[in-house]
Order: sequence, then C-alpha cells, then structure tokens
Amino acid sequence: MHAWQSRFLRYVAQTSPAPDGFEVSKAEGIFLYDQHGNQFIDCISGIAVSSLGHHHPVIGDAIRKQLDQYLHTTVYGEHVQQPQVELAELLASLLPKNLNTTYFVNSGAEAVEGALKLARKFTGRYNIVACRNAYHGSTLAADALRSDHDYTNAFKPLLSGVRHIDFNDADQLDRIDDRTAAIILETVQGEAGVIEPAPGYLKAVRHKCNESGALLILDEIQAGMGRTGSLWAFEQEGIEPDILLLAKAFGGGLPLGAFIADHTIMSSLSHDPILGHMTTFGGNPLCCAAGLAALRFIAENRLFENAQKHHHTLRDAMQNHPLVHQVRGRGLMMAIELKHPDALMSAIKACRENGLLIDWFLFNDRSLRLYPPLTITQDEIGLLIRKLTSAFNSLSS
Ligand code: PLP
Repeated sequence: MHAWQSRFLRYVAQTSPAPDGFEVSKAEGIFLYDQHGNQFIDCISGIAVSSLGHHHPVIGDAIRKQLDQYLHTTVYGEHVQQPQVELAELLASLLPKNLNTTYFVNSGAEAVEGALKLARKFTGRYNIVACRNAYHGSTLAADALRSDHDYTNAFKPLLSGVRHIDFNDADQLDRIDDRTAAIILETVQGEAGVIEPAPGYLKAVRHKCNESGALLILDEIQAGMGRTGSLWAFEQEGIEPDILLLAKAFGGGLPLGAFIADHTIMSSLSHDPILGHMTTFGGNPLCCAAGLAALRFIAENRLFENAQKHHHTLRDAMQNHPLVHQVRGRGLMMAIELKHPDALMSAIKACRENGLLIDWFLFNDRSLRLYPPLTITQDEIGLLIRKLTSAFNSLSS
C-alpha cells in the first residue's frame, strides 16, 4: 500500500471500513489528479461544493486579497467585517424580499441547527416535520431529522418532537398543525437519489404553512447556488420559504453555511435570551470573501443557465443506454438510475478505470450521482459523455 494511504488509514479518523481512498495530488477546473498524475473528470464536485470547478482564479484572488488584510478577529456577530456584510447584502439583493437577513455559520448541519432553534423561538412551538429519506447533516439535531432507524438507533435519545412524512405525498401534510414550529425539506431531495418535487407539492406545503402558522424551511445546501438550473431551486416552484439554508457551494470551496430569514424572524435570536445562537468561526472573513466571489461569479455569469443547457445534453446522451433505467434531476444535480442495483459498484469502478470520479447516494442503491462543476464546457461535456458511455459499454459487453 502507498505510504500516504496507510498513514491516512492509521491516523485520520475513518467514517467507514471502506473509504474511497483516492489520493489527490492536484485539482484544476473539472479535473482531479491522483498521485501518479492520472487525470479524472470530477463528476461529484465534492458533493455539490466545487461549482466553479477547482482552483478557480476568482476564488484564489479573493482569498489572497483577504489573507493580506485580516483573518479571524472575534466571534461572529460583534465586529464589522466587510466581506461578511457584502455577502449578506448580495444575498438580500438576489433573494425574495422576506429573505433579507443572513446568519452565518460554518457548515450545513449548523445551518440546520440554527434554523430549528430559530423556528422554535419565533413560533413558541415545539414540533418539527421532516421528510423521510432526507439528509440534513450529522449533528444530533440533524440526525433526529433522519427517518432510517437502523442508523439513528445507535445515537438515541435524539431531539424530540420530530414527525416524518413522505416527500411528495400531499395527503400527509395534515401532520403540519398549530403545534408545528416548522417543516424542513430539501427543495430537491439529494441523498434520496435526486428526487424532484412533484408539480404543485411545494405550493401545497406553503399553503399548509400559511394556514397553520408553521415556518417553511427549505434546505438548499445541495440544490442552491445555481446547481438546479436556477440560482435558487425554489424559484422553479413559485413559492418562497420562510428560512433558507445554504452551505456547500456557498463557501466557494471553504467552509461556510447560512440560515436566512426575514429580519423580524431572525431578531428573535438576539433577545430573551440575548445571544440565542452563537458561533466562533461562523462568517469567517476568509470564507465570506471566497463565498462572495463564488456567488458573484455564478450570478454574473449565469452559470445556472449552463447547468440547464448541459442537463439536456447529458440526459439525451445517456437515457437510452441499455444499462440505464432513468436519468433524473434538474440542471447539473443529476442521477443516473441503473436497471440493476447489483451494477452500481461495478459501474463506479468502471468509471474510475475510464477516468471519471463518480459516486452513489446515501438512500438510493440504484443510482449514480452526476454533479459536475457548473463551469463545465460543451467540449468537456462531450468528453464526459464519451467516458461514461465507454465505462457503461465495458459492463454491458
Ligand atoms: N443538507 C443537505 C441537503 C446535505 O446534502 C448536507 C450534506 O451533505 C447537509 C445538509 C449537511 O451539510 P454539512 O455536511 O456541511 O454539515
């Protein structure tokens, strides 16, 4: 075994007995390079993080500029730091009017935690409704939102008051009632294998929230920042959430998350008690500088339109392959569902042998994740399709 591999296995805490083990030596654009200098197309983007590809100059420039000014100065919410203020302002200008105040945190799970606390504090209610097969992170409260007991049993007791419903089943929305603080859902379910909301489903959720006074929290930690073909995935649904969650691509490759709401809702965290939510590093100036550069670049270059265009090319090229049951998703948040679940791991291996890094989903044993960077060009999409087809052909022959 290569020296770095064995040191990784020995000294770095592992999350499973079978880590991917890809040894990164360089990353540039849509490509990752292993320790031998072999080139791979990154079809995962760090799970919807590297939307501008790797080593993008606007991110590097923003980080270098901030590095020369200041890094951490004090805990979140006290000092006025320009990159943080600019990013919050830019968000407010790109979001609906009611999403005008941003609370910065470090990760997706922390955005979820903050939003749940905010919803309980603002409504004075206790219960949370979440969807089966959703993934919102791995802290105790985010774990409580998971519906798979085989996983959660080991960590109980979790946060109480969570009720589960099936995504896209409008008949179950009567579980949202006048004791519900919030319903949290992914606008497009990611780890379930890229499940889109059924037409009108999110409007029905919004209606039920308006009726009952529950807040609607949309988790766009995977689906936001242009990945689904619009800057925010909820734009395609004709609704607006009360609280929006961002992370992953939001930090431009650095750790940054946020929960965003109207000022009146958000202000409930700053009184009775004061300091209702705290973080040391949330909104770190370096991360906000990178996030600001990423969001500006995505919005100004309308990368979501690129995502939309390439979606159709990829779908048309792959949906009729004999191995493929269905190509799903929106923009460059895509899943390729195979006809035979047994083929999933061999497909991932064949992709690796053909120079593609591709992976699977937590709650779907038939589908491959296809999340390339949003900056991918037409020529690179052609290369991706040729490599994918050749990998699939090697399995069907
Ligand atoms: N929400 C969604 C939809 C996610 O996909 C993830 C992570 O994969 C999270 C929340 C948690 O984000 P983090 O890993 O940054 O805590």
